[in-house]
Amino acid sequence: MNRSDMLDRLEDKNYKWDFIIIGGGATGLGVAIESASRGYKTLLLEQSDFAKGTSGRSTKLVHGGVRYLQQGNISLVLEALKERGILKRNAPHLVHDLPFIVPNYDWWEGPFYGIGLKLYDVLAGKEGFGSSKILSKEETLKHLPTLETEGLRGGVIYYDGQFDDARLSINMAETAYEQGATLLNYMKVTSLIKDDEMINGVETIDLETNKKYSLSAKVVINATGVFTDSIRKMDDPNVNNIIVSGQGVHIVLDKSFIPGDTAIMVPHTDDGRVIFAIPWHNKVLVGTTDTEVDEFLLEPKPFEE
Ligand SMILES: Cc1cc2nc3c(=O)[nH]c(=O)nc-3n(C[C@H](O)[C@H](O)[C@H](O)COP(=O)(O)OP(=O)(O)OC[C@H]3O[C@@H](n4cnc5c(N)ncnc54)[C@H](O)[C@@H]3O)c2cc1C
Repeated sequence: MNRSDMLDRLEDKNYKWDFIIIGGGATGLGVAIESASRGYKTLLLEQSDFAKGTSGRSTKLVHGGVRYLQQGNISLVLEALKERGILKRNAPHLVHDLPFIVPNYDWWEGPFYGIGLKLYDVLAGKEGFGSSKILSKEETLKHLPTLETEGLRGGVIYYDGQFDDARLSINMAETAYEQGATLLNYMKVTSLIKDDEMINGVETIDLETNKKYSLSAKVVINATGVFTDSIRKMDDPNVNNIIVSGQGVHIVLDKSFIPGDTAIMVPHTDDGRVIFAIPWHNKVLVGTTDTEVDEFLLEPKPFEE
């Protein structure tokens, strides 16, 4: 991929793209692969680095959606489990199995999570990453020797996937390019071009040179994640927001916090969150929080607390 070659492709003012995709995160890059591989003339514009948004800041889990199981959303779990299997087949260098333990401190947690996670195994079918099992207190501590032992009754072990989110995005950008897409980062979309109320292009600026471009397309796709409303407002400034502003923080702890290769899943915190503590590059990644914020920033900062 060469940026100046890609920029040259924008010089023809009469050129009409089939798709212009705004946003170079997992969604936009996925759309670019789908569209370019079907032979459509595809342009993707990202204002910063690829995966600069949530796609490079996730908890790094390719999960089948354990939390959706808790909410009873079986069809979403089935879809996510299928996608998890496809992702592992397509990108085995970036996706691998990871054992998780749900530690049990109440008598009902063993049978409750034991049955729930067996259902998760059944739904995964042949796409399963490993069989879940109820563990004794001793077995749980063998995997997680630093767990709080007071009141610990045992745990339930199950298997899910871990991946490198930013690298996956870069590989997706390369795949879209191989399929014929044009992808440019540091290109910010500043407004939408309309003809008779129909959006048929975008105005964009190259943030490296400040050069502006007016580009035409049959279809413009808004794949800007948490920034979705800012693009919608370019179309209609009075439109109501559809994204609620919130922010999640991960903390990175020393490996000694969880010395083994098993992750911890806490399915329900006092304030209704799911928390994971996951081995990651010889450290431990813990998260996330979930706090309302006034606005989305491209470079969010964790709160002191
Ligand atoms: C804390 C947290 C943890 C998560 N953990 C997981 C997990 O473990 N596993 C999982 O599968 N999912 C996880 N998710 C969800 C996952 O990260 C998101 O679903 C996914 O990243 C959304 O991708 P996206 O492409 O829609 O958005 P983004 O990745 O945010 O991409 C949108 C892009 O649009 C660009 N953009 C915005 N405005 C413009 C403009 N005007 N011009 C050009 N470009 C623009 C932005 O720079 C950005 O790069 C997590 C999410 C959060 C917040």
